[in-house]
Amino acid sequence: MANLKPISCPVCGAEAQDITVARFDGRTIRCDFCGDYEVSGPVFKAGLLDKLDRQRRLDALERAKSSTPSGKRPMITRHDL
Ligand SMILES: [Zn+2]
Repeated sequence: MANLKPISCPVCGAEAQDITVARFDGRTIRCDFCGDYEVSGPVFKAGLLDKLDRQRRLDALERAKSSTPSGKRPMITRHDL
């Protein structure tokens, strides 16, 4: 069961929920603006998204979405940054 913690979205900064399940070393985010997406463990642990400005974070999420089959949750990896 996911624990629902209100956070600010790592991509757009809006209020979002952390719906990460325990076995995942990254983060799973539910955001009203961005939808559901994941941040890979290496990207999350290194704080890589924090180093980008908002537009570049949005671009990274778009790249992740475009490489994800529809119906699957996109994951932002180093490759998308
Ligand atoms: Zn967002």
